[in-house]
Amino acid sequence: MTDLNKPDLLEWLREQRPARLAELYARGNAVRKQNVGDAVHLRGLIEISSYCVRQCMYCGLRQANRALPRYRMTREEILDCARQAERLGYGTVVMQAGEDDELSADWIAEIVRWIKRETTLAVTLSLGERSRDKFKRWRLAGADRYLLRFETSDRNLYRMIHPQRRSGSPDRLMLLRQLKSLGYEAGGGVMVGIPGQSYESLADDLLAFRALDLDMIGIGPFIPHQDTPLGSGALRPAIPPVDQVPASEEMVYKMIALARILCPTANIPSTTALATINRTSGRRLGLMAGANVVMPNLTPTKYRRLYEIYPEKACIEESAIDCSQCLRGQIHSLGRFAGEGQGGRGTIETLTNVLPDATSRPVQLQALR
Ligand code: SAM
Ligand code: SF4
Repeated sequence: MTDLNKPDLLEWLREQRPARLAELYARGNAVRKQNVGDAVHLRGLIEISSYCVRQCMYCGLRQANRALPRYRMTREEILDCARQAERLGYGTVVMQAGEDDELSADWIAEIVRWIKRETTLAVTLSLGERSRDKFKRWRLAGADRYLLRFETSDRNLYRMIHPQRRSGSPDRLMLLRQLKSLGYEAGGGVMVGIPGQSYESLADDLLAFRALDLDMIGIGPFIPHQDTPLGSGALRPAIPPVDQVPASEEMVYKMIALARILCPTANIPSTTALATINRTSGRRLGLMAGANVVMPNLTPTKYRRLYEIYPEKACIEESAIDCSQCLRGQIHSLGRFAGEGQGGRGTIETLTNVLPDATSRPVQLQALR
């Protein structure tokens, strides 16, 4: 199953039979175990600003959404979150925001330098499409990784759902290559079930993950937001119904398993969007299909509700400590353990490295449903 070509991928993406799907998830999970071990890495997410100058047709943070009150965290608030990440035993902080032009390159660089000087954390940035010069300055300040999902490899659909900035917008696939050339670990990814997204384009997305040799791959369901053109139905890309990919959790598990098989050593999160569409077991099922990362929220509770990329987001009421305890509980319930250290690509941690007499307890996927 390792050498999957496009027809194979299409067949798996359209597969419906439960026994065959169980086989796929088991394969994704086995490849995960063999290549990145049983550690689940915790990346503390800090949503530093909800301002955005872009108009992505699916996202609640798009500039045209006037219904959403905006916030921008202060430097001290961000540093407090980083200190808390270290206290909670996380190895990484992810600083994420809309494309907020008020976040100056120097301000970001100064915060990255502080975190790298004062803590042992890896720093991931997810600040949208930026110039090579900014990427370089942040890399020189010590940033380790950059997340920039390309959302879909279908160029027509991509253009339809990403109106350009007035100054023009670079191609995200090109930016991912640029980030890699600057020495970042680069993370791409897609939403699953975007209106207008075909099975064929999803197979191409998987092949793009491999061709780009991504270090991190984020896959989550598209969740409609009423205050956006794609969520309200005002924008309906034309596609025959049989070709339209559903925004279902099953499609996301298939994508996680296939991404794991194609990119065995990548870091793959079980996303908050997945936990949003299945609150009881979405995260755990993602971890059982091939994922090895979770992203507990560190954003101060007063801001969380305002970072509304989609409605009813999971984990917006809990404190950072609650999130940490809840996720650790879920990880242990799978017979896995929280990773130590920064957990960059290529680290294999096994429970026996951490606790020499420990054995990992197998858990049946079916038991979680
Ligand atoms: N502005 C940065 C960017 O676009 O890369 C980072 C923040 S953006 C909110 C992070 C991710 O949220 C996007 O890459 C997209 O995949 C996801 N997202 C936005 N709207 C969504 C929706 N309606 N459903 C699911 N995911 C969504
Ligand atoms: Fe802004 Fe990112 Fe949302 Fe697009 S996806 S509107 S760039 S926050």
